[in-house]
Amino acid sequence: MRLVFLGAPGVGKGTQAQRLAKQEKIPQVSTGEILRESVKRGTPLGLRAKGYMDSGKLVPDEVVIGLVREKLTSPACVRGYILDGFPRTVAQAEALDRMFKETGTPGLDHVISFEVPHEEIVRRLSGRRSCSTCQTVYHIEHDPPKREGVCDKCGGALVQRVDDKPETVLARLKVFDHQTRPLVEYYQKQGLLRRVDATVSIDQVYKQLLAVVHATRVA
Ligand code: AMP
Repeated sequence: MRLVFLGAPGVGKGTQAQRLAKQEKIPQVSTGEILRESVKRGTPLGLRAKGYMDSGKLVPDEVVIGLVREKLTSPACVRGYILDGFPRTVAQAEALDRMFKETGTPGLDHVISFEVPHEEIVRRLSGRRSCSTCQTVYHIEHDPPKREGVCDKCGGALVQRVDDKPETVLARLKVFDHQTRPLVEYYQKQGLLRRVDATVSIDQVYKQLLAVVHATRVA
């Protein structure tokens, strides 16, 4: 199962990807997560990416394309993967298509577009917290941890992402509209796009997602 999860920041792609990846036993390849980890460790990649990320801009295409190519051609991804947060520009999508051709690896099965109005996104992101140790994501109102500020799974401290501050969220939504939204049409033309209403509960979104995934198996 080779999937791309597409959607503005805060639509819940990461949460859904985490759940489906676990159920299907395939890796969740989140470029945002890989980049944040590199920033935390102070690697050359992290040092290059940090300024872009903190201001809500996209990291240059060649940096993320190289990173994804390395992941997808690794043995861990042979059975499939969920690309969460990549591609984010038409140039990235084209590079992905070229990679499939060059390496002879099978292409995507589905591109899932998670759809939520911007006003709702701003509300969601201001309440988002993630574990500084295991990266599990919570929401202070909709999906709170049992103990405030503490991760249910590992006991790590919950923190707000630097780029979830209101002014940076608006910048990220603008970037989404200009650079990522055109991918909806790109994948629609390829017949790969599936739309999911992501304004409903986490469980209801997951049900829609499973329906899409199961539709492939039957077909
Ligand atoms: P995310 O966790 O997916 O919201 O990503 C956080 C930040 O990482 C983004 O705002 C970008 O600065 C950077 N990033 C993640 N994925 C990509 C990508 N595919 N292309 C460029 N920048 C990315």
